[in-house]
Amino acid sequence: MEVKYTPHGEPGKTCAHCNFYTPKPDNPGKGDCFGHEVEGQGSCNQFQPKDA
Ligand code: SF4
Repeated sequence: MEVKYTPHGEPGKTCAHCNFYTPKPDNPGKGDCFGHEVEGQGSCNQFQPKDA
């Protein structure tokens, strides 16, 4: 699986809105995704909306 990560995702399609994002308890702007640290503003081609 190739992941194309970008540090600035389109509005509404960012890591912060993604099903795979787990925000850090002390800093919701950063989080974990499959064991990787990502920015809440980032995004990638595996984006999946939270409610899906
Ligand atoms: S799957 Fe992609 S968009 Fe979703 S949290 Fe991980 S890096 Fe961000």
